[in-house]
Amino acid sequence: QAKEAGRNAYVRFADWMNDSAEQQFQLLADLRRAIGTEQLFLHYQPKTRVAGQSVSGAEALIRWRHPQQGLIPPDRFIRLAERSGVINDIGRWALNEACRQLRVWHDAGHDGWTVSVNLSPIQFASPTLLHEVREALKTHHLQPRRLILEITESAVMRDTEASLTLLQAMAALGVGISIDDFGTGYSSLLYLKRLPATEIKIDHAFVRDLENSSEDVVIVSAIVALGHALDMDIVAEGVETAGQRAYLERLGCDYLQGYLLGRPMDPERFMQLHDLPRPRVEVAAGWKAHAR
Ligand code: C2E
Ligand code: MG
Ligand code: MG
Ligand code: MG
Repeated sequence: QAKEAGRNAYVRFADWMNDSAEQQFQLLADLRRAIGTEQLFLHYQPKTRVAGQSVSGAEALIRWRHPQQGLIPPDRFIRLAERSGVINDIGRWALNEACRQLRVWHDAGHDGWTVSVNLSPIQFASPTLLHEVREALKTHHLQPRRLILEITESAVMRDTEASLTLLQAMAALGVGISIDDFGTGYSSLLYLKRLPATEIKIDHAFVRDLENSSEDVVIVSAIVALGHALDMDIVAEGVETAGQRAYLERLGCDYLQGYLLGRPMDPERFMQLHDLPRPRVEVAAGWKAHAR
């Protein structure tokens, strides 16, 4: 009886594996077809300054509306895209689309806003990335410092010397470099010292229990001290409650991101929500006064 059950279990397992591989194969085929269509689009989540509570810009987050399966979150297809190399096409599109959108916002008077674009480790290894970044800025007439590239620690650690060289070239361009999901990778403090990063994003994981965990308070405050000592801005992500916000502000974070401050949303809504309260000329002067 046990033997029978075991055999059935094996068969089910094998079927499940086949189905899964097949599903992934199908999903990848669908993803390839989705590139260049409206199935792929970007949502934008506000990044808010602690000082003055004003929006400083947005993080672009990719979305895929599959014709049959509906909305598929990036955590489900980015890995697939990375394994197949399709991520280079998707990433190139996302970079250009985010820059195009920022140009629209700047033209509407929000000329101090920045846009943050997530880069995959795979893209990071591409020899054409630097050129693509330069072209995107040129095409959309953007000052380099209005673009922030988000990279994860693991991406940077993968190929240390080559990554450093590329990062230094991008930093020389003047774009912002943000270390995303900070604290979850394989941080080497020695390495951090050599990174031309302009920003650290403290991962959700350290923000979630901040109100109840003295350990997390200590960790966040250490990251803030470290980042500031290295002349980097500190962004906290995943801020969901007023209590978390109060802690993060007290601990010295410069920027906050999270559902409390705004969910990722489409670009039209993003601008409606942050509509200019006064005529353009006046406001533009106001933004300049705020600029760092
Ligand atoms: P990430 O860059 O760390 O982005 C933050 C994620 O947290 C986003 O998930 C965002 O929607 C979510 N989030 C924001 N605020 C809150 C909050 O208060 N609570 C909670 N629970 N979550 C919050 P999303 O959009 O599903 O993206 C997941 C990951 O997919 C991103 O993590 C990023 O690594 C990757 N990703 C997204 N867009 C792109 C892209 O264009 N290119 C690449 N290579 N990766 C992308
Ligand atoms: Mg990010
Ligand atoms: Mg993150
Ligand atoms: Mg993440």
